[in-house]
Amino acid sequence: MPGIEALAERLSTYLGPEQVNLVRRAYFYAEQAHDGQRRRSGEPYVTHPLAVASILADMHMDHQSLMAAMLHDVIEDTGIAKEALCQQFGETVAELVDGVSKLTQMNFETKAEAQAENFQKMAMAMARDIRVILVKLADRLHNMRTLEVLSGEKRRRIAKETLEIYAPIANRLGMHTVRVEFEDLGFKAMHPMRSSLIHRAVKSARGNRKEIVAKIEHSLANCLAADGIEGEVSGRQKHLYGIYKKMRGKRRAFTEIMDVYAFRIIVDKVDTCYRVLGAVHNLYKPLPGRFKDYIAIPKANGYQSLHTTLFGMHGVPIEIQIRTREMEEMANNGIAAHWLYKSNEHDQPNSHARARQWVKGILELQQRAGNSLEFIESVKIDLFPDEVYVFTPKGRIMELPKGSTAVDFAYAVHTDVGNSCIACRINRRLAPLSEPLQSGSTVEIVSAPGARPNPAWLNFVVTGKARTHIRHALKQQRRSESISLGERLLNKVLTGFDSSLERIPQERIQAILSEYRLELTEDLLEDIGLGNRMAYVVARRLLSAEGEPLPAPEGPLAIRGTEGLVLSYAKCCTPIPGDPIVGHLSAGKGMVVHLENCRNISEIRHNPEKCVQLSWAKDIPGEFNVELRVELEHQRGLIALLASSVNAADGNIEKISMDERDGRISVVQLVVSVHDRVHLARVIKKLRTLTGVVRITRMRT
Ligand code: MN
Repeated sequence: MPGIEALAERLSTYLGPEQVNLVRRAYFYAEQAHDGQRRRSGEPYVTHPLAVASILADMHMDHQSLMAAMLHDVIEDTGIAKEALCQQFGETVAELVDGVSKLTQMNFETKAEAQAENFQKMAMAMARDIRVILVKLADRLHNMRTLEVLSGEKRRRIAKETLEIYAPIANRLGMHTVRVEFEDLGFKAMHPMRSSLIHRAVKSARGNRKEIVAKIEHSLANCLAADGIEGEVSGRQKHLYGIYKKMRGKRRAFTEIMDVYAFRIIVDKVDTCYRVLGAVHNLYKPLPGRFKDYIAIPKANGYQSLHTTLFGMHGVPIEIQIRTREMEEMANNGIAAHWLYKSNEHDQPNSHARARQWVKGILELQQRAGNSLEFIESVKIDLFPDEVYVFTPKGRIMELPKGSTAVDFAYAVHTDVGNSCIACRINRRLAPLSEPLQSGSTVEIVSAPGARPNPAWLNFVVTGKARTHIRHALKQQRRSESISLGERLLNKVLTGFDSSLERIPQERIQAILSEYRLELTEDLLEDIGLGNRMAYVVARRLLSAEGEPLPAPEGPLAIRGTEGLVLSYAKCCTPIPGDPIVGHLSAGKGMVVHLENCRNISEIRHNPEKCVQLSWAKDIPGEFNVELRVELEHQRGLIALLASSVNAADGNIEKISMDERDGRISVVQLVVSVHDRVHLARVIKKLRTLTGVVRITRMRT
């Protein structure tokens, strides 16, 4: 067998003879298990696991990963049980194979829900042993390299999945080389025409550019030599899919992208990187704002390098990356560099620790997320890292995805900081919480004890962590508020019959709970508060076992204005304290307060199962908007006059609009915020003192 022996020889350069033999044994086991099976290309099936192992050998992966690679399709395709592998090759290898098989069974093309669940499984498998994903990536890489033999539809499905799931994962793990190959092969399979067009264009452009490239390279090398710096200068080529994405995303023309000349300078140590930077900035003028120091602040996947852009001769832009040999290897292989350049066990490279942290973070998200769709939403954002770097007031660096706001920052600092945040200072200036953060800013969070997350934050936060925690906090808040409203609603009905929740025997409550299939009394109260169950109906069940009808309860329930998320004011009639009101319980939304004579509820107003009589408690906090229609004679400075009268009565204008009805009379619509009816009366009275006022009406519906 030349295949396995050639591999064994390569392995013996970094593995012991015993380990090489174990890999060999796994190969023969796989060969026998897949006996008779063929790949679509006609070759014996075992050539595939052998190729996968060979990819992993290029990364210098350990013998267990290589054995798992040999056996990776055995459980899935030959029906050999995991236990059998465990006996033959030990638990670790069997677990790896099992993990890879589970990933193989995933079908990401199904509905979003299924996709999300798959992703969770993937994260779990990775968390148990990160080598699972490396074997899987190698498997996928070989399948992508041999994609041509598949039918068009299947080929596109696999290519799409590779671009959407596996390429971002490789990127997240810092495996640049694998990612680029995934992207170029995926691009070719998805868009064969576009791919070959760009390929041809790149080839001809390269021919034209040869001379300039050589010139720049020469002058860079000379510049290093003049400063006595040893370094390796090489031209960089962008990969096809990268060019395509730039053309689409940034809507740039092909020539514009190709007009940039890219070079890489590789040196011996970190120190030298900065010396090189100085030297090239001396040679050509740097483009302001383009310098990035990823050495001091590495990217989330462990990438380190200095980036700068220079104005070359005749103003040609030159992009330069400066890094050490070690950083170069990390940039190409990411987490795999851990095995490739392992010096000693305790000294794990950055990217390995970061990859672990990422997987750990994913699992935490999963535990918080209410459902798998919320989860996948969070993970997707994490898979496309475009970071901004900001500082805490104490100078700590925080890394956040692009577009993150102060709220994302607050949650990244600590969940409690996020939950109690009320305002922020960006570079010492008060700024809106929704403002996207810029790299280099210092962000300070102003928090207040007892403050709560605002549902509106969900409209602008970017990180999965912030989103999940806000939702979680809102759910908690909503639950406790629903319980307390539910308790008040239920007790109100019960007191009408000389009873109360406390006086109902526990067994009776338990009986009702099990009848409703609920666990806790709180669950029942929550249901009532949310409007899913009617207090009147529940009270009847609690009071009389036979369910004989009770008369409708008397006396209104007082609204305090502190009910929170489960109580809202109807937009159709905008009630304010002092107005006669009723509460309409709508399922899942809780209580909506309407004016007693609002037309929208006229049909159900007297139905005790749907509506509750309400009154206002004393001193309701907050401001309420009402709309006023003022008809008055047209005059100069009319808006100013209206504004100052509303102001004089302590009211506040939220909105104003005016149309002229005829030459003489103007109609002004005002939205004014007031405390209650008495306050509104004061505002109206003040408005009436204006000269020329014909009529003032409060608008409803
Ligand atoms: Mn396979």
